[in-house]
Amino acid sequence: MKTLETRLNEVTGTGVGLIGFPLDLNSSFLTGAATAPPLIRKALHSSATNLWTESGLDIGAADLHDLGDLPLVGVDDPLAKIEQAMGLLLSRQFIPLGLGGDHSITWPIVRALRKEHQNLNILHFDAHPDLYDNLEGKQDSHACPFARIMEEGLVERLVQVGIRTANGHQREQAERFGVEMIEMKDWQPGIELCFTGPLYISFDLDALDPAHAPGVSHFEPGGFSTGEAIEMIQGIKAPGFIGADIVEYNPTRDLNGMTAAVCAKLIKEIAARLFED
Ligand code: MN
Ligand code: MN
Repeated sequence: MKTLETRLNEVTGTGVGLIGFPLDLNSSFLTGAATAPPLIRKALHSSATNLWTESGLDIGAADLHDLGDLPLVGVDDPLAKIEQAMGLLLSRQFIPLGLGGDHSITWPIVRALRKEHQNLNILHFDAHPDLYDNLEGKQDSHACPFARIMEEGLVERLVQVGIRTANGHQREQAERFGVEMIEMKDWQPGIELCFTGPLYISFDLDALDPAHAPGVSHFEPGGFSTGEAIEMIQGIKAPGFIGADIVEYNPTRDLNGMTAAVCAKLIKEIAARLFED
């Protein structure tokens, strides 16, 4: 397998760097998310569809560079390795588009971004706030990345949408960190998502209703339709888009690759925004 350095050296110019993080060690309920990246790529390049975004951009002809998967098996500290890899990508002026893997990958990605950008904003799609101080004693758990991000003061604003599992502890954490949690019960179609700083988008597939995205570890009915999520992505107002991740696709739970197709669609529509810069 080629190293990330080798892949980066093979690319002429820069652009959006698609990179897979095959990790599910920090999942709490089911494993499987580590096998997602190659299946998402396969859906993206499926001859059943094309590489055009709804806004009319051909991402097949744009500077979207596939940098492969970061090898994480047997690595002592996978999150440190992700942060280091992201540092490398950013030093080559790539805009990262990460494929999970479980949601724990977002913390090291944002750590690396913080070194390059001030006033970071995050828009986080998820059924879960992922604000636990720890889950079963694990602070690296996929249930905790946004607690770590907020504790370290890495971002100016964290806006969450799709939340429908906030318990007492996570509500307290949201209050403590000033997280803007837009719960599903309060969400309305056509909501304005406006940011004044550079924006990172973190998309956990379980933000969607399991009817739209069955390939996830944690079924939480009552989520967004795929169309509602796309409409939000297309409508975001921000001065710049600095990266994104799509996490928590679990192929062992998928039906006929439906959720892989949803991931591929989200990649296209999110990439359309990343290419606006
Ligand atoms: Mn999550
Ligand atoms: Mn989730």
